[in-house]
Amino acid sequence: MSNPLLDDIQASGTVETISIALPTLGRFYEEGIIDEDADPNDLQINAIGIMAELSTRDPFILASGKGMELLIPQICPSILQPSRLTEIDLEAILIAARIATHGNTMMVDHACPQMVDGEDGKHLCGEENKIDVNMYDIIMRYGPIEFSDKFVVDLPEYQQKVFLRPLEYGQALTMLRDALTTRKETNELDKTDVTELLTSENKIEEYASNIMKQAVSTMESIIHSIFYVEAGSGGKVSNPDQIKEWLMAISKENVKKIIEQIGELNKTLTGKNSITYQCAACGKENTTNVELDIQKLFFFTPTSSKQPKTPTNTSPKKRTPKTKP
Ligand SMILES: [Zn+2]
Repeated sequence: MSNPLLDDIQASGTVETISIALPTLGRFYEEGIIDEDADPNDLQINAIGIMAELSTRDPFILASGKGMELLIPQICPSILQPSRLTEIDLEAILIAARIATHGNTMMVDHACPQMVDGEDGKHLCGEENKIDVNMYDIIMRYGPIEFSDKFVVDLPEYQQKVFLRPLEYGQALTMLRDALTTRKETNELDKTDVTELLTSENKIEEYASNIMKQAVSTMESIIHSIFYVEAGSGGKVSNPDQIKEWLMAISKENVKKIIEQIGELNKTLTGKNSITYQCAACGKENTTNVELDIQKLFFFTPTSSKQPKTPTNTSPKKRTPKTKP
């Protein structure tokens, strides 16, 4: 039911809404992740409102990573399960919401990391650069991704084809946390004296479990990066348990081939928020990025940011979506 009070606000033009096409066009989402009435090719993203601000600004919420889950449904009510968005879609939504909230310009700070010649040898430039980034340029990089052969790994000896997908944001986050914990354990174990390691039953067990954890997380990242496998008969398998069983059965070389292709694919999907600029002091070229962090995007408004007055549609709608396989 439409609310006449909201119609007045809408008519005043002060509500900032931007419409975008999701970079993945929703291709990897099963039912229940996005509202079935929403169009992934034309999704409404709102400026951050008071509820989003009150619920996500809390430092504990921000630090816990819970902020994203609270924020996304507020800026994009069509997203029902934020943690299941792919990272690239999540990034596009955040940038659109930033434009809707604070306008096109965002100031990014970056200390120059270059070594420059000084009177007594080389020293760090360290100039605190303030870069005015046009967020409109950034969001244009998030047009629909092309489903090229980067998404496919051919395994001719089995007459099978593997179709890859970008990781879900929630999974990527969990894996990152696990990797950090495992790495910490690995570092501890690396410090252990070899004799102690080999003579202590506990240490051997710890070591073995650490190695196992690393193997499991590698395996999981492969499974989560596989959309489905097309069998020789033409049937498509996407069940994670069946894929796991299959990964254990194919040759090591083929697993390596899949891992390499996942790496190649991820390279094309990441880094779209990077910016290159010339240092104001030494003139050398540097690369940094627009941090897609709730605090930096929404709650820290540098003085150079213009008032919100933005185009209401940045949708790269001209391209037609490819149909699902
Ligand atoms: Zn410099």
